Amino acid sequence: SGFRFFDAALAADVLARAEIERDLAKALDADEFFLEYQPIVGVESRVVRSFEALLRWQHPEKGRIMPAVFIPVAEKTGLILPLGNWVVREACREAANWPAPAGVAVNVVGDQFKDRAFVDYVKQCLAESGLAPGRLTIEVTESVFSVDETVIRESLCELRDYGVRVALDDFGVGFSSINNLRAFPIDQLKIDRSFVRAMMETKRDAELVDIILKLGQTFQVATTVEGIETEGQLDFIRQRGASEAQGFLISAPVGAGDVRRLLQKPENRLAA
Ligand code: C2E
Ligand code: MG
Ligand code: MG
Repeated sequence: SGFRFFDAALAADVLARAEIERDLAKALDADEFFLEYQPIVGVESRVVRSFEALLRWQHPEKGRIMPAVFIPVAEKTGLILPLGNWVVREACREAANWPAPAGVAVNVVGDQFKDRAFVDYVKQCLAESGLAPGRLTIEVTESVFSVDETVIRESLCELRDYGVRVALDDFGVGFSSINNLRAFPIDQLKIDRSFVRAMMETKRDAELVDIILKLGQTFQVATTVEGIETEGQLDFIRQRGASEAQGFLISAPVGAGDVRRLLQKPENRLAA
């Protein structure tokens, strides 16, 4: 009563995903993960304020695998819990060696907050490493708010009371809810990089960026524009009052060893 097409490409996809799932289970114990760090600079000064920690997987045969490929799999299998904890500990440990006040930002997903021990775990990592809580930022996307509003609000409030900063990542592409900005404690709004190219091309997209930056000003949070690749784009967001920029123009993500080199540049200024 029906028919199906067999698609070799689709079958290969399923197989590749199954392989990733299998290999991922062993990767944490095998020490195959490492972090890269991408600087976030003040738009006016170009001084490095912090680095976003970005996870990479060095697969023994397949080489380097990017988070877009394996984070969704880790979320599905539950590995995101131990893996996410590893990222927090490693980022705190590394950042504690940087000259203050340079900070570090870590990406966290909703499932990590479901584990009510997570907030205590973050505090423990800060205490162990000696990193001042104000130098750690937790980046969440709006999808966390669909986990459990109460749990998320309590967790974020507790982290903030401890001094940790909270950033709303990839703003503009998801719900982009004004209510979330009112209801949750947030210190920083990160505008998704998909806006950057568009804002240089159409008036409507430029105005959208304007509106989001104004939203940030209304809620008195820092506004960081992601994906800045050209001087023109940096000028554009500077004129519109963005506070921070991140992107290949300033620097691609770098290894831990290069962070200190970036911070040792005269006055921490990048690509001026
Ligand atoms: P994100 O948090 O929005 O991170 C920024 C991504 O944009 C990074 O990709 C970065 O390399 C890329 N990027 C930075 N500047 C530019 C630019 O100028 N142009 C372009 N085209 N891209 C730029 P990456 O490292 O592949 O990470 C992708 C996503 O994976 C991250 O998006 C984040 O959502 C997730 N991710 C990374 N590390 C972790 C982690 O430790 N835990 C969790 N849960 N998610 C992570
Ligand atoms: Mg992020
Ligand atoms: Mg982002």
